[in-house]
Amino acid sequence: MKSYEMFIDGAWTPGTERQRFETLNPYTQVPWATIPQASTEDVRSAIAAARRAFDSGWRRMPGLKRAALMNRLADIIEREAKPLSVIESTDNGKVIRETSAQMLYTARVFRYFAGMADKQRGSTIPLDHPDIFDFTVREPYGVVALITAWNSPIALLANKLPAALAAGNCAVIKPSEHASASTLEFCRFVEEAGFPPGVINVVTGDGKVGAALTELEGVDKISFTGSPGVGRRVAAAGAQRLVPVTLELGGKSPNIIFDDADLPRAIVGALAGIFAATGQTCIAGSRLLVQRPVYDTVVERLVERANRIVMGNPLEAVTEMGTAANRPQYDRILAAIEQAKDQGAKVAAGGGGATDPALKDGLFIKPTIFRDVHPEMAVAQTEIFGPVLSVIPFDTEEQAIAIANGTRLGLASGVWTQDISRALRMIHAMDAGVVWVNTYRMVSAQAPFGGRKESGYGKERGEEGLLEFSVLKNVMVDF
Ligand code: NAD
Repeated sequence: MKSYEMFIDGAWTPGTERQRFETLNPYTQVPWATIPQASTEDVRSAIAAARRAFDSGWRRMPGLKRAALMNRLADIIEREAKPLSVIESTDNGKVIRETSAQMLYTARVFRYFAGMADKQRGSTIPLDHPDIFDFTVREPYGVVALITAWNSPIALLANKLPAALAAGNCAVIKPSEHASASTLEFCRFVEEAGFPPGVINVVTGDGKVGAALTELEGVDKISFTGSPGVGRRVAAAGAQRLVPVTLELGGKSPNIIFDDADLPRAIVGALAGIFAATGQTCIAGSRLLVQRPVYDTVVERLVERANRIVMGNPLEAVTEMGTAANRPQYDRILAAIEQAKDQGAKVAAGGGGATDPALKDGLFIKPTIFRDVHPEMAVAQTEIFGPVLSVIPFDTEEQAIAIANGTRLGLASGVWTQDISRALRMIHAMDAGVVWVNTYRMVSAQAPFGGRKESGYGKERGEEGLLEFSVLKNVMVDF
């Protein structure tokens, strides 16, 4: 069994209390590695290391030099994409094709923000006083806490760390206790790239470690990806210390197919929208709204393809869908499926755990489609974070808008239509941070991303993602 250590101040450490926990491979349900459980003292020393690194040189290092380190790190990520994706797929059951693509995406995001590290600038501002010269400068916060979820540990880190470094901050990272291994492996690349000790630190463990990171003195900014419930606690901790917080939380995103849509494309988009990553993505298109004239055709084609999705070893290239990432999540998904049945949703495909004997050791759940779902049912209101699609019929555009916006979450949305006027009306009407038109789940380094309502606040990626990690200073000079 592999035994990992934490990465603090450029050194590997088992932590002061030397406590460990096992991490399970969800395909075999066999523990494959042990991870340190950080003590509060470990968190404190990671914050102190980041502060020393910030004060002793990182804050004054020219952007071009920081960019060179980030580009070197991107080179190593590309070189090591294969083994790193094997580690992550082993840890969270996501298919290797998806984790491999995410490693390359991560390298791309590092390069994008490396290109911005020497381009942060302020502005000059004309005042009413002719003898006062006024200008602004952007400065890093200092030490930032980056807390991530288990579904895509490295890609979620890519949404935070490159922007934080480009803006000039040092970081303490806390990955999920359900999938910490790839983030710790990533620190070997940080070492090889030559980052000064303390610029990037990783502490591991459960929610207590995350809570300590948000509550202890010394952190100047918190960026969190996870559930709305924990997001509230993180926001409260930030409020207590008066530290700004960015929250990337859950979703219950509507994917809307109109009767004039290019149906083959829309159906592929709907399937990928929910069954990619076994439905365990914040942007999952878990509510499919279909206009009545094409409703039966769409459901029929979805069911036919969903029933053929190949489940199996996440490390094999032929596998199309992996497992639930961990036991608690597996149990939550199955409970949500049972609740939907109890509330009268009709199972059109799947509807429970996999029954194939070849899959009996893994946390497999059949791709599940509920049809004729009422928008107020729990299955259409609550994030399940699993391969469960609710298909909801509608008649008019107004109805589609009301259903789409009728949840407490507002992360993403999709619209499938060939009518440009309708597309533009829908873009304006969606109460969500992202609208995809005739595509779904597309992400890029350049495009800002982030939710509304209970899906959180703040942006990641794009120029706006960089601004989250810096603070504006105004300067007045009386000459
Ligand atoms: P979670 O909220 O249970 O945990 C997220 C992280 O927070 C983990 O590292 C956990 O250890 C830590 N944590 C737990 N309690 C804490 C506390 N009191 N203070 C600080 N940190 C604490 O979420 P999860 O189950 O790991 O992930 C699933 C959720 O993440 C879903 O809701 C999903 O939609 C969301 N998510 C959002 C995005 C996005 O970009 N919007 C991306 C991926 C996942």
